Amino acid sequence: MPLYEFKCQACGRRFEALVRIGGENGVCCLACGGREVNKLVSAFGIGGGASRLKSTGSGCATCSSSSCSTCK
Ligand SMILES: [Zn+2]
Repeated sequence: MPLYEFKCQACGRRFEALVRIGGENGVCCLACGGREVNKLVSAFGIGGGASRLKSTGSGCATCSSSSCSTCK
């Protein structure tokens, strides 16, 4: 099951919850039990993708060294 982050509309608290696909409507706030919660985009997934793209700054796309047969 995917882990999602939610924000409660009643008390403003953020919390994470494991949710089945299509089961977001059954999530309640962990602090106050309110059912008015917004699902937030996972910050974990965004950060991982961005750092991976940055690591290809040196060398070419197919090797980690600064020069190989496919480097230009
Ligand atoms: Zn709440």
